[in-house]
Amino acid sequence: MPTTRRWKLPTACFAALAAGALLGWLADGHVAAGVAIVAVAEIVFLLTRDGHLARPIMATTAAAKHDRLMTRTHRLASSLRDLRRTASQLPDAVVLLDPDQRVRWFNHAAENLLGLRAPQDRGVTLGRRLPASELAEWLQQDEREPLHDTIAPGRPDSQISVSLLPFGRRQQVLLARDTSHVTRLEQMRRDFVANVSHELRTPLTVIHGYLELIDPEDAPALAPVLDEMRAQSKRMGQIVEDLLTLSRLETQHHIEDERVPMAPLLASLRKEAEALSQGRHTIAVEADTGLDLLGSPKDLHSALSNLVSNAVRYTPAGGSITIRWRRSGDGATYSVSDTGYGIPSSHLARLTERFYRVSSSRSRGTGGTGLGLSIVKHVLNLHQARLSIESEPGRGSTFACHFGPERLLPAASGHDES
Ligand code: ADP
Repeated sequence: MPTTRRWKLPTACFAALAAGALLGWLADGHVAAGVAIVAVAEIVFLLTRDGHLARPIMATTAAAKHDRLMTRTHRLASSLRDLRRTASQLPDAVVLLDPDQRVRWFNHAAENLLGLRAPQDRGVTLGRRLPASELAEWLQQDEREPLHDTIAPGRPDSQISVSLLPFGRRQQVLLARDTSHVTRLEQMRRDFVANVSHELRTPLTVIHGYLELIDPEDAPALAPVLDEMRAQSKRMGQIVEDLLTLSRLETQHHIEDERVPMAPLLASLRKEAEALSQGRHTIAVEADTGLDLLGSPKDLHSALSNLVSNAVRYTPAGGSITIRWRRSGDGATYSVSDTGYGIPSSHLARLTERFYRVSSSRSRGTGGTGLGLSIVKHVLNLHQARLSIESEPGRGSTFACHFGPERLLPAASGHDES
């Protein structure tokens, strides 16, 4: 019985102390000495007894701990193996790099796409291991955006998109994804649009030419129909031209840099705005002296005039339009502000998509193709510039093009416009 066992030891100790006291009393009345001797003996007994008891308990605890630790270690090792197995089977290349960009580990896809070989490439600096390429240069940079559609060093007929992510303590993981099929599809789409636009150009020119030949006075009843046919064929012609411009801009990766004198360009933009507005708007130009642009004169003219034409077309009569060209930070900004219809903020992010319109009827009514801002974005990309749009419905909009310092030139002969 556990209760009896619990009392057994104290009772025995007490009995022993009583016996010690009795013996001490019998031996010349030394009760305290008898109690003390028995007490010491009991302490020694208890200590040695507990030591004997504790040892097996401690041994059992240590063994259990060890077992638990081993189980956990095995479980961790197996999870790690699973993780590695999974990572090694990923279709994307994964390379684990130490803080000095030395290769610590990589998967099968990295062998395939980046040309790494195990085990000899473990420990080598990745940038030095790769052949001279855009990717190798990108790895040398301190701050980098993901690199898109670059040649895969291990498979020169494929394209990859690469990113570097921080991992653990100052380590990094390089991820590379094969984007060849997306690039191929994109190319097919571009070719298709360019071919269709090209094929449509000639028949449209012919139709437009014949429509121009017909004199409405010969068939007065058909005059409104003829007007509509002419307007629509002109619009189709403009759509085809814009699609061809976009195809060209998309396939172009760099431009022949030329000086773009801003003073005459701004003057011609003002004239275009006035011609389009036909006196319905107040048009102003505010320009910084002495700043020209470096880039493609034709493409820049097309982009900057697109913004002016939009401002005129989306501003009701009586409104005002201001064209500005100013230094901003170490770069410069070209902007067109209007007091027109404005654009709800939910549309702003999508405005540069092809054929995206806030109001289709208003766009068509003003002769828009829906491709203008798409062209603006591509031209700016080719000039490493950026478009920003601020707008408030009912109050107006500002479309601004931000150019970096590398695109600026002191004007050959600086003059003011305002
Ligand atoms: P579109 O030929 O239709 O004008 P864009 O690509 O130039 O095509 O512009 C896309 C859409 O953005 C337009 O349909 C219009 O809804 C809107 N938009 C562009 N500029 C302005 C502006 N200055 N004010 C108001 N809306 C604008």
